[in-house]
Amino acid sequence: MKASVDPDRCAGHGDCVSTCPDVFAWTADGYAEAVLDEIPDQYQDLVAKAVQDCPEHAISAQG
Ligand code: SF4
Repeated sequence: MKASVDPDRCAGHGDCVSTCPDVFAWTADGYAEAVLDEIPDQYQDLVAKAVQDCPEHAISAQG
C-alpha cells in the first residue's frame, strides 16, 4: 500500500498525524505529508482510518 496527501486539499487539521504519526508528519509549512513510501502491514488499518477521517478528503491510499 502507498499513501499520499494532496497538498492542494490538506488544511493542516492534523488528524492523520495524530492517528498514525509513523506514516504522516508535518511539513515545514504546517501541512501533512506521508513519510513512508511503502506502508508496512501493521499501519494499514491506521492509514485506512486516516483516509476515512480526513476532513478534507486529502489522503489517498492504494495498493
Ligand atoms: S487529516 Fe487531512 S487535512 Fe488534516 S492534516 Fe491530515 S491530510 Fe491534512
